[in-house]
Amino acid sequence: APTIGVLALQGDVREHVRMLEAVGAHAVAVRRPQELDRLDGLVVPGGESTTMWRLARSFDLLEPLRKRVGGGLPVYGSCAGMIMLADGILDGADGQETIGGLDMVVRRNAFGRQIDSFEAPVEIDGVPGEPLTAVFIRAPWVESVGGRARVLGRIAGAGGGPARIVAVRQDQLLATSFHPELTGDTRIHELFVKIVKGQA
Ligand code: GLN
Repeated sequence: APTIGVLALQGDVREHVRMLEAVGAHAVAVRRPQELDRLDGLVVPGGESTTMWRLARSFDLLEPLRKRVGGGLPVYGSCAGMIMLADGILDGADGQETIGGLDMVVRRNAFGRQIDSFEAPVEIDGVPGEPLTAVFIRAPWVESVGGRARVLGRIAGAGGGPARIVAVRQDQLLATSFHPELTGDTRIHELFVKIVKGQA
């Protein structure tokens, strides 16, 4: 089984560990730079990206993470984790940095305060079967993607507004605005494990 780390600085680490084990991966929490060495893949969980960024910086993880991503480590980022994978952020905190790697710009807390959290059906390219029930919690949306990134899913805009990108893939990097780890639906984690194994 592939060894998949869950970045355990902050956020919903345990839920991802549970999902990864449910789909047959060996999941480990990671906090130290040297723990990145033995990973076949990494999940960056949901939580609060400003806190995650500050902790990653003070644990000297930002550069090692960037190196591993640049070297081709498969990474899945959910919500705050999506923000951490984005090359650009809108509405970030002052000076907020990311790991980057995914050629996209995300907007933090994009869905607004009135709808802090909601569920919506989303069809994801490469995920067969019924649409997923996607859980959004103070979620970002993807404002734009560059040529190397591929949009995997969108949700319909509220009140007739434009559809919003909520899932993106670029080679071995995967990101969703929503939290599959908070549902019983393992299909996104299955997709990620396939990416880790080079089967998707
Ligand atoms: N709003 C959070 C942020 O900016 C993300 C929320 C989440 O991960 N559920 O990081």
